[in-house]
Amino acid sequence: MSLRKLARRRLPYPAKQGLKYIYSAITTRVRYGKIFSDTYNFLQESQWWSREKLEQYQMQHLSRLLHHAYENVPYYRRVFDERALKPEDIQDLHDLRKLPYLTKEIIRENLPDLVARNYHRFKLEYVTTGGSTGIPLGFCRERGVTIPKERAFIRMLWNRVGYRISDRCVVLRGNVVQSAPKGKFWRYDPLNKSLILSSFHMTDDLLPHYIAKIREFRPDFIQAYPSVITILVRFMKKNNIEPFPTVKAILCASENLYPWQRELLEEVMKCRVWSFYGHSEGAALAGECEVSTCYHIQLEYGIFELINNDGNPVTSEDELGEIVATGFNNFACPFIRYRTMDLAAPLNAKCKCGRNYPLLKRVEGRLQEFFVDETGSLITWSDEPLRNAQDRLNAYQYVQNEPGKVLLNIDAKNKFSISDVERVKRTFLDLYPKFDIEIKFVDHIPRTKSGKFRFLVQKLPIEFGDFSK
Ligand SMILES: [Zn+2]
Repeated sequence: MSLRKLARRRLPYPAKQGLKYIYSAITTRVRYGKIFSDTYNFLQESQWWSREKLEQYQMQHLSRLLHHAYENVPYYRRVFDERALKPEDIQDLHDLRKLPYLTKEIIRENLPDLVARNYHRFKLEYVTTGGSTGIPLGFCRERGVTIPKERAFIRMLWNRVGYRISDRCVVLRGNVVQSAPKGKFWRYDPLNKSLILSSFHMTDDLLPHYIAKIREFRPDFIQAYPSVITILVRFMKKNNIEPFPTVKAILCASENLYPWQRELLEEVMKCRVWSFYGHSEGAALAGECEVSTCYHIQLEYGIFELINNDGNPVTSEDELGEIVATGFNNFACPFIRYRTMDLAAPLNAKCKCGRNYPLLKRVEGRLQEFFVDETGSLITWSDEPLRNAQDRLNAYQYVQNEPGKVLLNIDAKNKFSISDVERVKRTFLDLYPKFDIEIKFVDHIPRTKSGKFRFLVQKLPIEFGDFSK
């Protein structure tokens, strides 16, 4: 009998779990390779380490990274030499502050010097990210290493809400599906047992086909960009459509999950909505666990600092800080003290799950996702003004071009009356009394190239604090 058949047989609980484990270990190695498999197995253990052991591990990796950067990366050699420092001078997190921040501008201007000289060009993979500011950021990853490690970390995080490698997933993550123009809006990825749905055809007339296909596929999980699954879930709510009974959790990624989105997803899908903080640059990672929605900072992934707008480490739970990250998974183009332009607040507590990671109370997300008032203060945007008008909307988007003023573009399904418009304005001004708002009706609100939907297009250049010098 093949391993696959063996693993699928209905066996008493303990035996079945044992075989499933063996099956999963073998297929993981075959499917995803040694680096993925080793990292995944390591993380299964390390997630239960004491804080002391995790920090020791971090210091060993930091030392290795700094020595490598000093020896092989011209930009960092310069940084050390200019400060008369050697890698041995950095023994702890306090010492790490002797090194300057790495900003997106520095990366753009110095990329060739940020690539390690001891990496053959075939080992380098050049990538660009859209960047929340709209200006692309290009950098290199280590081919065949950075991505398998990243994938192992993410799978391990999903594991906390019951995900197993053999589980079936629906993917709603900004994918383009080649056959979509011919009326087939999905494709099956057998390697990952995933049904990938086009994110660009989710209109009211086609969504019933999506829903029927998801039901037929019987997924265990749905991986989604929050803004994309929101379209599906709003449609299901409006039409009183039952959730998918096999789905154990919605695995959100790559965008802020706003509290109103979590509420809506939980209400309609009737399952756990799970999220994590990460970014394409791969220097910081923090995920929720099985018992909490606080983000656990993954210490094996890199060094995570929270810096307030005076340039000092954040200590209080009431204080927001910019996430400054040093990543361990990309020695080809090291990111040391990288300013992510993402904001978060710490939580000074230990999670009931028993893991010893530091926690984040909240991740406020990208700097570009805040309103800016006339004094330059950052203020969280809200969907409240349009909450009662969802059934008359295709989409909406705030645009800010100058401090204290917001343009609200509305793509309306049904006509808004004058009193509707007045109500939206009034609710907005109750929330944001220092702002002016202009409402404009438009025919279409475009997605980003990666298929995400941006609720706020912030055109002002925002800096959290001028502490980089
Ligand atoms: Zn926990």
